[in-house]
Amino acid sequence: MKQVIFLLLTILIFACDSTQEKKYEFGLVIHGGAGTIYRGRFSPEEEAEYIDKLNEALEAGYVMLENGGNAVATVERVINILEDSPLFNAGKGAVFNAEGLNELDASIMDGATMNAGAVGGITKIKNPISLAREVMEKSPHVMMVGDGAEKFASEIGMPFVDPTYFFDNQRWEELQNIRKSEAEEADKKMGTVGCAVLDKYGNLAAGTSTGGMTNKKYGRIGDSPIIGAGTYADNSTCAISATGHGEFFIRNVVTYDISARMKYLEETLQVAANYVINDKLAKITAKGGVISIDKYGNVAMPFNTEGMFRGYKRSGEDAVILLYKE
Ligand code: ASP
Repeated sequence: MKQVIFLLLTILIFACDSTQEKKYEFGLVIHGGAGTIYRGRFSPEEEAEYIDKLNEALEAGYVMLENGGNAVATVERVINILEDSPLFNAGKGAVFNAEGLNELDASIMDGATMNAGAVGGITKIKNPISLAREVMEKSPHVMMVGDGAEKFASEIGMPFVDPTYFFDNQRWEELQNIRKSEAEEADKKMGTVGCAVLDKYGNLAAGTSTGGMTNKKYGRIGDSPIIGAGTYADNSTCAISATGHGEFFIRNVVTYDISARMKYLEETLQVAANYVINDKLAKITAKGGVISIDKYGNVAMPFNTEGMFRGYKRSGEDAVILLYKE
């Protein structure tokens, strides 16, 4: 009799907890920033450009995963595509700091090994996410910044670009507008990029790349290269990339907090991510959002701004791309 009751209870537990199974063989989720993204801001042609580029990045990542690519390599490739586009505030198209310079930050984390790599204040490397991956894989460190990071890049033979490569007229105009208005909260165009991946082998990885915030002070580093703030991945929980007002994301250790809630409180990804973005951060008017995927292929993309460029594609499904609040 006891055995029958035990068996029935076990069946009941599994039946109730339907999220606890791998629903998708693989999948990826991306963002192209939150912030000053709201209906009416972009023309239909501009919206189409953003959608096309997000779609190109998603499809490239999907094909890699379908062919057995691993999570870390996929994160790097997808972010490279977004870094190379002037549409986003990362790589080409990065915003200018208060001195009229582009200083780029990026990080990547491998949820299988819990290894991580990050770079800050980069001025001459075309794809900061690739340098972050090199720091993770070829150095004993997690984070390298400024000249030291670029010295390491030259030692391992990474290609350099002239800092003028990052010049973008629209970003320059944005800096001038902020300087004129002197309004701290003026159009601080965001547009950071990020990617989180579940591969066929059950491994998770995440990465984030950014130019930071327009008119930031020299030497300012945001949340994007901070492991646990802008990027986090743990095979036992989820992979996450954040975008938003970095100072708040650092103080609230946003991506780690979501993973920790899943681990210690046994919350689902959806519940944990939603609580941190729409409750905890919203209460202190900290603007931004995250994209995330868990080990089962569940996706969560909460944000507390008017819009967030975002999308996902999972095995056997069509891509979903969204720009604004639904
Ligand atoms: N989080 C980035 C930073 O504060 C900005 C962004 O996501 O748009 O540097």
